[in-house]
Amino acid sequence: MGIERTLVIVKPDAVAKGVAGKIISRFEEAGLRILAAKLVHLTHEQAAGFYIVHRERPFYRSLCAFMTQGPCIPTVLEGDNAISRVRDLMGATDPAQAAPGTIRREFAASIEANAVHGSDSPESAAFEIPYFFDALEISAR
Ligand code: ADP
Ligand code: MG
Repeated sequence: MGIERTLVIVKPDAVAKGVAGKIISRFEEAGLRILAAKLVHLTHEQAAGFYIVHRERPFYRSLCAFMTQGPCIPTVLEGDNAISRVRDLMGATDPAQAAPGTIRREFAASIEANAVHGSDSPESAAFEIPYFFDALEISAR
């Protein structure tokens, strides 16, 4: 609760489709502030490290391949209750299960190519934000 920071990634499928701006707008319209952003094409090793918590899952290799298929846009967003608010705006992992009006319902193609990532807890955010951004790359606003 209170002001939180969260790591959001506009995933490669959404960047390739040209909907990155629309997705980032959803967060801005909800009052979240962008503190950092960049476009990066992940190596397999970088994707595997980011998703290390999923290493035992059957979809891990495929997920890492998907995340390296083109550039993505990691961002740090800040706002009141940002972690759970971002998760609500994103919708369920599987776009077929995502509520109408959510980002994944509108922009995701499949349970894997699902347009956006958002940290799922303060502990995840504390790992994920410095995975992509040095302290000097994150602006106070
Ligand atoms: P979320 O991104 O909603 O937190 P998870 O942490 O469970 O979802 O999974 C991480 C990512 O792995 C998902 O966003 C999606 O890209 C991919 N993924 C999850 N479940 C599957 C699955 N059953 N098959 C293929 N890819 C999956
Ligand atoms: Mg997750």
